[in-house]
Amino acid sequence: MAERGLIPPVRGPIWPVQLGDGVVAAFGDASWNLALEANQGPLGGSLAGFGLVLARQVHGRELCWVESAEITPGWPTCDALATCLDGIGLVIRTADCAPVLLADPAARLIAAVHAGWRGLLAGVVPAAVAALRARGAEAISASIGPAICAKCYEVGPDLAKRAESEGHLVIGGADGRFWLDLPGSIARQLELADVRLVRAGLGCTAESDRLFSWRARQETGRQGGLIGLI
Ligand SMILES: [Zn+2]
Repeated sequence: MAERGLIPPVRGPIWPVQLGDGVVAAFGDASWNLALEANQGPLGGSLAGFGLVLARQVHGRELCWVESAEITPGWPTCDALATCLDGIGLVIRTADCAPVLLADPAARLIAAVHAGWRGLLAGVVPAAVAALRARGAEAISASIGPAICAKCYEVGPDLAKRAESEGHLVIGGADGRFWLDLPGSIARQLELADVRLVRAGLGCTAESDRLFSWRARQETGRQGGLIGLI
């Protein structure tokens, strides 16, 4: 069994992010391939010492607290996972949507969030911040993983207008086309929630052949992010 706390030796590259002492956090690339049933094992198996929890993600704003180290079979239906327990690896799966990892290392509270445009508008990230604060978090740090970038994410005028009216970052061209800056808008939500943003700079899913993109290539695989307390 590998020593708990090491970045998991999943196949292919990972991007560790520093969210504080006692917090293991990383984003993965397409080699994680989390959407395929057969490939959910290798990640879990390689993260020895962590019990992994994945969510049945539905583009909403629900957050599920993982309250027990006993990992029950079946995934909770939600788009944010949180825990205060050591040894639990919270895993979010994405392609184009953003995985967002949050931690208050002093309060020993962590969360992993799935945020696409629906989650952005639903406020899943601020809701997760509020949930951590309700349990005593004060100084929260966060990092946004690989997601589709603004210049690759054209959206229709209705969504563009709605997003813009709610304060999100929309770029409008002179020809009536619009692009949504999803990672930029999430970063703004975090800043407004007084969360310290740790830049990850992991590139755009649509532009990188190391990352899955539904929008660009209709790929069904998922990369993701994971976070755990040690
Ligand atoms: Zn891009």
